[in-house]
Amino acid sequence: MKIEKLKVENFRNIESASLSFSDGVNLLYGQNAQGKTNILEAVYYFARGKSFRGSSDGELKRFGNDGFFIEMTFDSNERRQSLAYRVYGKDKKKYRNGAEEERITDMIGHFRAVLFFPEHLTLVKEGPSMRRDFMNIGISQIKPMYLNIYSEYNKILENRNTILKNAQKGLYYSEEQLDIWSNSLAKRAAYINEKRSEYIKKISESAKRILYELSGGKEELSLEYVSDIKGGSDIEAQYRDILFSSREREIAAGCSLYGIHRDDVEIKINGISARSFASQGQQRSIVLALKMAEGEVCREYSGEYPVFLFDDVLSELDEKRRAYIMEKKQDRQILITACEKQGFDDSDVNVIKVEKGTYVSSYR
Ligand code: ATP
Ligand code: MG
Repeated sequence: MKIEKLKVENFRNIESASLSFSDGVNLLYGQNAQGKTNILEAVYYFARGKSFRGSSDGELKRFGNDGFFIEMTFDSNERRQSLAYRVYGKDKKKYRNGAEEERITDMIGHFRAVLFFPEHLTLVKEGPSMRRDFMNIGISQIKPMYLNIYSEYNKILENRNTILKNAQKGLYYSEEQLDIWSNSLAKRAAYINEKRSEYIKKISESAKRILYELSGGKEELSLEYVSDIKGGSDIEAQYRDILFSSREREIAAGCSLYGIHRDDVEIKINGISARSFASQGQQRSIVLALKMAEGEVCREYSGEYPVFLFDDVLSELDEKRRAYIMEKKQDRQILITACEKQGFDDSDVNVIKVEKGTYVSSYR
């Protein structure tokens, strides 16, 4: 995967910009609040169909404007492709290779990227939701169908919770409707469970090898997918059993107590829980290993590396971990943001100076 060109209009602090990217490392550098992360946000928008900073589309348009336009051309498995979004108010137009697409899910899975930004450094220590996001994002890029099933799951979960809440309050509720939602939930949960369990197995193999390399053979990583299900066969039936046998408890709680919205990933280093015991440095290495592994697994499925987006994290990593990333530039495209250009003096780095939403490249 290789980005050729990015065009941005009225997005964040960028009035209008056109950027070209090279193979290998592209460094966006400049002072704080100039528009470095804004470019990664625009690029990653093509991977997910939304901002990675949790901002709404309305917050992305440049202050004082009604909307924004972003367009990117990239090569994927030697085919040139383009994606574009034109967003004005509630109107969000989506284009793929020049033709308008109806659904956001038709836009996902064409451009694939791995994003690593400072908040991810808490992935090991935080509660499970960031680790679930890690699975969701990784899987939906290689299996776009996952995204559809996942959003169906969430809608069903919401409906089911409404009924459970009514039941808890002693209001009228339909037992039959609750059965229907339980069956539909079990079906989606089974699909998601299988995909997550398969994904974590793959990620675990890669991440283990990477951390072994990064730590000079001192650290052994293992990942385990944690769910309500024991695994084995007929996962859907297992979910149904749990949902139907826990009805009284769920009514008492007024919400769904079981399902893939409660999953986690158990991370161990040398056999002990990383969440409880890993040092700061070990956590950094683990997250870097997970991100690099995300790229490896993506490549296994799609035949090529995704684009790697490193927002501000190189300054957080030590020399050895930085060098590890820079070694990988031969066969993949990497976009890095930093405040300084020191350490990137290499002539084959495309250095882009960022100032007040403008971008000047050392290339061309
Ligand atoms: P840092 O080094 O601090 O991470 P950065 O270069 O990555 O800085 P960005 O996050 O890319 O900075 O850009 C931040 C700038 O964009 C801020 O000045 C902010 O006020 C501005 N900005 C954010 N949203 C909008 C918007 N909707 N319209 C105009 N400007 C915006
Ligand atoms: Mg930034």
